[in-house]
Amino acid sequence: MLNGNSKTAITLLTIEPPSWTDELLNYLKDHGYLVTMMTAMDDELKFLKEQSPDAIIIVNPAGSQHFFQRIRAQTSHPLLVLITDNFTGDLPYETADAVLPPRPHYVDCQLQMLLHLRAANEDLQKQNLTLNDEVKKLKEELIQRKRTNNEVELLKNAIVHNISHELKTPLLQVKAAVSLIAEDLKDNQLSQLAVNATARLEILVKNVTLLGSSLDINLGPVITRDAIEYARRNLGRVWEHREDGTRIKVHLEDHLPPVLADKQAISTALQLLMDNALKFSKKDIEVRAVVNGDHVKISVRDFGIGIAKDQLDAIFEMFYQVDSSSTRRYGGMGVGLAIVRIILERHNTEINVESRVDEGSTFSFMLKRIDI
Ligand code: ADP
Repeated sequence: MLNGNSKTAITLLTIEPPSWTDELLNYLKDHGYLVTMMTAMDDELKFLKEQSPDAIIIVNPAGSQHFFQRIRAQTSHPLLVLITDNFTGDLPYETADAVLPPRPHYVDCQLQMLLHLRAANEDLQKQNLTLNDEVKKLKEELIQRKRTNNEVELLKNAIVHNISHELKTPLLQVKAAVSLIAEDLKDNQLSQLAVNATARLEILVKNVTLLGSSLDINLGPVITRDAIEYARRNLGRVWEHREDGTRIKVHLEDHLPPVLADKQAISTALQLLMDNALKFSKKDIEVRAVVNGDHVKISVRDFGIGIAKDQLDAIFEMFYQVDSSSTRRYGGMGVGLAIVRIILERHNTEINVESRVDEGSTFSFMLKRIDI
């Protein structure tokens, strides 16, 4: 727009105006264009720079290739249009935005469309620049976050491993001493408190250790039977379950293929599920593994107290227990299922639960089978 005028400003350049130039000029003026005519090309660049028209129309531009290139190089890129009744010869098509015949109505329509497209294109380019800037910023942010996450992950792993390692030995010594004192001072309230506190501390360290093992996941072929046996053996070492070995009934489908898993972590998850099943039920519990399409489905079922429907999501949160008084009754700290969830997430799978109060619960998950 010339001088802030809302009309479309056009400069029409011609050295030797052909006969139809006046008709074109008048048509454009009548149709709302602000047209400036130039018949000499001496001062044209200075003029164009000062006025910055929306479009430059060159009429019959024989030999003006050089001029076009100068305009392209030195002005703020107005629309460059050639109007000619002679399409042959060395017309500078590549430098022009359009080459039109001298038909006023057609020229008007094409100019409007081209100017509209040009404005839309400029808008898009601006948006593109802004988007590029944003993408760049987001990329930098992402790199920074990844770096921080890796550092946090390493730190977390180190803390978990060190805590479990550094706490285990002194705790065993304290436990042994406290047990001896409690035996000497039978029915002494203080010594009983110390025994209970030590037991809770032991559960805490056990959970931190289990959490530690759930952080390092190395996927490889695992024999489901081995993982279940490993979990069962570890469970047998836990004092509360020393008598429970015979309550665990394992049912494995024949010819089970290996699964893609981390043996240690999956055994930990199974151990935690079996621990709960034994804890919340007096009857036998069932551990099953069956092929399910591309996966092996592993489930742990009990016929115990069950879980209310509205609690089924919350039980997988850290430190959540359906009934806080159950801590005293059943022991535990409400972290087992959260660890199971983390382990399975790291295997790109999830834990499912079906349960009915007073009838029992089934926890199950799928692992990808490997056919070797
Ligand atoms: P906890 O150490 O308390 O067992 P978990 O995270 O393993 O912690 O379980 C959270 C809560 O979910 C338990 O306190 C219990 O209320 C409920 N829960 C888990 N497994 C069972 C189950 N097999 N039967 C009934 N309730 C269960």
